[in-house]
Amino acid sequence: MKILVLNSGSSSIKYKLFDINTRTALVEGIADRIGEQVSSIKHKAYLSDGSVKKTNVDGHLPDHQSGLTKIADLLFDAEVGVVKSADEISAVGHRVVHGAEKFSKPVVVNVDILEVLHKLSHLAPLHNPANLKGIEVASQVFPQAKQIAVFDTAFHQSMPNHAFRYAIPETYYKEDGLRVYGFHGTSHQFVSKSAAGYLGIPLNKFNAISIHLGNGCSMSAIKGGQSIDTSMGLTPLGGLIMGTRSGDIDPSLILLLGKNHNLTFDEVDLLLNKDSGLKGLTGNNDFRDVIAKYDQKDPDAILAIEMYAYRIRKYIGAYAVALGRVDAIIFTAGVGENSVLIREKVCKGLEIINAQLDSSKNENIDEGIAEIQTEDSDIKLLVVPTNEELEIADQASHLLNSM
Ligand code: ADP
Repeated sequence: MKILVLNSGSSSIKYKLFDINTRTALVEGIADRIGEQVSSIKHKAYLSDGSVKKTNVDGHLPDHQSGLTKIADLLFDAEVGVVKSADEISAVGHRVVHGAEKFSKPVVVNVDILEVLHKLSHLAPLHNPANLKGIEVASQVFPQAKQIAVFDTAFHQSMPNHAFRYAIPETYYKEDGLRVYGFHGTSHQFVSKSAAGYLGIPLNKFNAISIHLGNGCSMSAIKGGQSIDTSMGLTPLGGLIMGTRSGDIDPSLILLLGKNHNLTFDEVDLLLNKDSGLKGLTGNNDFRDVIAKYDQKDPDAILAIEMYAYRIRKYIGAYAVALGRVDAIIFTAGVGENSVLIREKVCKGLEIINAQLDSSKNENIDEGIAEIQTEDSDIKLLVVPTNEELEIADQASHLLNSM
């Protein structure tokens, strides 16, 4: 069975086709700059002889429909394609950022569901409309396939209300849906399942603190395999310090920034989402650039890295208490999987929960899941590569099989 996974953004479509029987990727790529004069598709096919064939196509893709049609042409192409016809694709799994309280599981999208999803768009105006566009277009380009929505928020729907409510009058929760939803759910779910399997602990007995450090960053407290708290909130702005997002701030900052600098709400929103975090502190949002400055002893970069690590440590402390017992602390995504420095700064001095980092293991990790704790550590410290697309494909396949 083949499942195509799509992550449709405002001007891009990322895609990955899986053979779900072997859980391997057959093709992946991205159509970028959709709507601009020159758009591009970068396509990578993993051919049956073990070779990888890369193709770059430049041209004009005026909209998502033309983008996905062109992607379909590449999938069926005699040379760089891997399927003969659209009939071979059983389902298209779509990453949808916000499912609110309506969706705690993946769902097959029909006209009614699409209408509900459109109504939720106000909660994620930057993401959901583009995700829904992807669903609409995919149901035209792959009409025989089931369209399945998998939500970033779904994994965190298990949070108890004392974790997800804000201390504001209930009416704003009931009427407007203002509560903690949390994001990166597919990643936290994927790495926690992988870690439990790796450690041989039944998922329903597994307690972990999962730390996803990519461009966006979030943490999840996972008890018995279920999320009981997470660092992002109503939107992906809360919690940890990120590439361009501030993470937690005193809400009064919004008022004072507006008053003192004559900024509108939209301008403050932009400042906190796009010009803050590592970018606001150092001028660079890419972690590799911040590390390069840190290595040159740039004081802004040194402060930024200390703040970034300290914020993560505060959440580890909070989540250790929330969980009562922690089997593993999991690092994942671009920074978590690759930065020796951040893992070291986060894990040094966690004596209070007896999590002990082995520096030499931390510096020499192998591919796949790596353990980086000492023999004496009570808590496993793990580096687990995330694979959100595979998780979406897996969830879509389970849903299909259960129908
Ligand atoms: P996204 O959230 O877009 O999926 P990724 O998980 O790919 O992001 O993570 C991107 C981040 O990972 C960037 O800040 C990048 O600098 C960082 N990163 C990638 N490789 C390394 C590395 N070798 N060392 C430190 N940071 C890295």
